[in-house]
Amino acid sequence: MILLARVFEGPNNGLAYAVAPVEDKYKIIPTKDPLLDAANLYAKGEKVLILYSLSTPLFVEIWRELIAVAGRFPVVAGGPHAAGDPITLLKLGVKYVVVGDGEVALPAIIEKEEGLSDETPPNVLIMEDGKVKAGRRVYTELVYKTYSEALGAYPPIEIMRSCGYRCAFCQTWAQGPVRYRPLEKVEEMVKVYVKKGRREIRFIAPVGFLYQSKDGKTPNIDALISLLKTVREAGGLPFLGTFPSETRPETVTRDVLSALKNLLANKRLSFGLQTASERLLKLAKRGHDVATVEEAVVTARAFGFTPVVDIIAGLPGEDEEDVVATVKTMERLAAMGARIRMHYFIPLPGTPLWGREPSPPHKLYTEFAKRYRKKVEGYWEEQIQLSRRIIETYRQISGYLSRTTPISKAS
Ligand code: SF4
Repeated sequence: MILLARVFEGPNNGLAYAVAPVEDKYKIIPTKDPLLDAANLYAKGEKVLILYSLSTPLFVEIWRELIAVAGRFPVVAGGPHAAGDPITLLKLGVKYVVVGDGEVALPAIIEKEEGLSDETPPNVLIMEDGKVKAGRRVYTELVYKTYSEALGAYPPIEIMRSCGYRCAFCQTWAQGPVRYRPLEKVEEMVKVYVKKGRREIRFIAPVGFLYQSKDGKTPNIDALISLLKTVREAGGLPFLGTFPSETRPETVTRDVLSALKNLLANKRLSFGLQTASERLLKLAKRGHDVATVEEAVVTARAFGFTPVVDIIAGLPGEDEEDVVATVKTMERLAAMGARIRMHYFIPLPGTPLWGREPSPPHKLYTEFAKRYRKKVEGYWEEQIQLSRRIIETYRQISGYLSRTTPISKAS
């Protein structure tokens, strides 16, 4: 069995995570032309399985390719989009949709493809005789390496999976109970990264400063110190609390920063306000208020960090009053020394806000971004286009599915 991993421009982190646990056992070949490469291997008598790791932005780019490939070869799709909308992927012909931890799913899928098992693989949905079948749900410990030598991909090290919060625009918390990578497993990976000359160690964590938090909400300062010291002792430079391990405003406290200040390699700390409308903060289930974010900005500055505050324009139901409150708060935060990272609401399948229309981009946001251009960052204008594209793609898919009933011919 050869695994063809569909790679795209960019870091391919999700794919590295997917293949890492099996790459010692199976041959992994990266591909940018899965139809051609699979056909060539098939002609030589090889069995192939084609792997996709899908975010929603990627899915809307390549859904037609997915139909073409899945119509001829067995396809496995995982990633946040697969977990968010597995049924559409099955209807488009994907044979195995991974909706939970991939570490246990992929080996079982391979066994099934090789005829060694009849079971529906764990954490996987399949379609049989027009009916969806679900494998049992299994939550793994974070003990598997997450880099892939076969793909040459060394993503940030995942130290925390899932989230104890339930923000209505976010897909992350649907990953099951919160789990942390044990420190010794982090250390093993850091040593490999440093040996490869990758001294800058970044982490993936939904909330960076909640690594090893006992209740998923209160920073475990001893564990954070141990994490950062371990990285430094292994020769690495730890970046935590900044992309892609942004944190929450409640975790940016004097206690945390005085403990971590001299251990962190980053000078920026990123956390979300998202909106300054207390009404929308509640609707989005953020679990903090505006004052908490202002305190976090003051605290970060007091310890010499540059606070970077995330804002989401266009949340569903956002009205003029919400926009005015948010723009005023952004002006205040900028005057306090924060940078503002602007986003536009992206509807993501599987989230409570999926199906709700984004509010149109308000001109007050555009004017703010112009006036404060030296303090504003982010890709919010591109996200306006992306947001529209997701909605439009789903309209097209709905039309496509009503005209056709694609069934995977792959065996
Ligand atoms: S705190 Fe962050 S990761 Fe957790 S649910 Fe909210 S947005 Fe998602």
